[in-house]
Amino acid sequence: MSEETKNKQAPVKRTIVKTLKSSRELPKLIQWYMLKGKARKFNPWKHTAWATAGFPIELLWSFDIFPLHPENSACVSGARKVSLELIEHAESLGFSRDICSYMKTNIGAYDTKIKASLGGIDKPLFCATTGTICDTHVKWFQTQARRMEVPIFVFDIPHFVSGSDEKVMERYTDYVVDQVYDFFNFVEDLTGKKINKTKFLEVIQKSDRLCEIWQEIYETRKLIPTPVGYADTLGDIFPLVVLPGIDKGIKFYESLLADVNEQVKLKKGVVEDERHRLLFEGIPMWYKIKYFHQLANYGAVVTYEPYTWSFGPRKTLGLSFEETVREMAKMMIHFPYNYNLETRIDYFKQVIKDYSITGMILHNNFSCRPSATGMLDLKNTIQKDCNIPVLILDCDMNDPRAFAEGPMQNRMEGFIELLEQNKTK
Ligand code: SF4
Repeated sequence: MSEETKNKQAPVKRTIVKTLKSSRELPKLIQWYMLKGKARKFNPWKHTAWATAGFPIELLWSFDIFPLHPENSACVSGARKVSLELIEHAESLGFSRDICSYMKTNIGAYDTKIKASLGGIDKPLFCATTGTICDTHVKWFQTQARRMEVPIFVFDIPHFVSGSDEKVMERYTDYVVDQVYDFFNFVEDLTGKKINKTKFLEVIQKSDRLCEIWQEIYETRKLIPTPVGYADTLGDIFPLVVLPGIDKGIKFYESLLADVNEQVKLKKGVVEDERHRLLFEGIPMWYKIKYFHQLANYGAVVTYEPYTWSFGPRKTLGLSFEETVREMAKMMIHFPYNYNLETRIDYFKQVIKDYSITGMILHNNFSCRPSATGMLDLKNTIQKDCNIPVLILDCDMNDPRAFAEGPMQNRMEGFIELLEQNKTK
C-alpha cells in the first residue's frame, strides 16, 4: 500500500454518518406500523396477512387487510442483533444451514414469540406470496402456513427470460391476470368482502405517488456530491415495502424530499469530500450496517442500490379497473430480480453512467440465490467494460456467522486502494 493511500486510509476513531433529518423520524413511523399491527390482534374483524417482497401489497390495502411482512421483521431482528438465536432455533428443528436466513429468522421469531420491536410477528388470517423473486418465498410460506394452520395464496409468476418476445409476454400476462381475480375470490371466501374497485384504484394512485417521490429522491442522487446516501435509503424504503397505498408513507416521503431539496440547494453532500461514488447490489448485512458506514471514512458513498430502487416502480394511472389489474400483472413479471444476466449487465452499465459510479460492491449473499447468481460474470464484465473496481463480499444478510471481521476489513481497504488508484489514473 502506498504511503499516500495509507494516509488517506488512516483509521478514524468514530465513523460519523450523516442522515437526513426526516430519516431520523423513521423509527416513529415503524413504531406506528407495529402498534397498528398489534392492535389488529385484539380486533379479530380487522384482518392481517403475511406478504413477501414481490407481492403487490396494494392488493391487501384495497381490502383493508393490514400487511405484516416477515422479511421486514427479519431485518429488524438482524439490526437488533437477535437474528442468530432465532436462526439457531430454526436449525435445531432441522432447517438446514443452507436455507435463507430470513426464513429461519422468521421461524425462530414466530416460535419464540419474540417482541415486535425485535422482529416478532403474529399469526395472520392468511399468507400471500409469489414466485416472482425466489422459490424460497413459496416454500417458506407454505411451511409457515402449514405450521400456523392458515390458508395460503401463491402467485405463479412466469419468468421473462432471454428469447421471450411480446407475444410470450401477453400470454404470461393473461395467466397472471387470471390469478389476480383468483386472489379476489380467495379473499372474498375468507372475509366475505368483495374487491372495491374505486378503493383499488385509489390505492394504486397513492402507491404511485409514493414511487414518484422515491424516484425524485433518486434523481437527486445523480448530483455530485450526492445529497442522499445508503444510510438513508436502506431504512427509508420501509414505506415502499409495507405502506404503498396509504397516506402515512406519502407524508413521510414528502418531508424527506423537502430535506433532500434543502441539501441540494446548499450543495451539501453526504460526505464532506466525496471521492468515490459506489453502487451496492444486494441486501445489506443487517447485523453489521456499520460496515457500510465506514465507507464515509474514505470519502466513499453508496449512491445507487438496485435493491432499494426496485421497490419503487411507477404505476400507470387513469386506466380502468381491468386495465390496472393487467398492468399490475405485468409488473409482477417485470421485476428487476427477474432479469436475465444480459439485461442485468445493460441495466448496471446504464446506472453506472447515470449516477457517475466509480466502484461497485456486490453482496454474494449465501442466503439469496436470486441476487447472487451470475455475480462473478457481472463483476468481470463491469470491470472490463466500465473500467471500475468491483468488490464481491461473500457474506449473509442475517446470519452473522458468515461475517469474518478481519478478512472483511482487509477487503474493504484493498477496494479503497483500487478506487484511489483508479481515480489517480
Ligand atoms: S432467497 Fe433472497 S429474495 Fe428469497 S427470501 Fe431469501 S433473501 Fe429474500
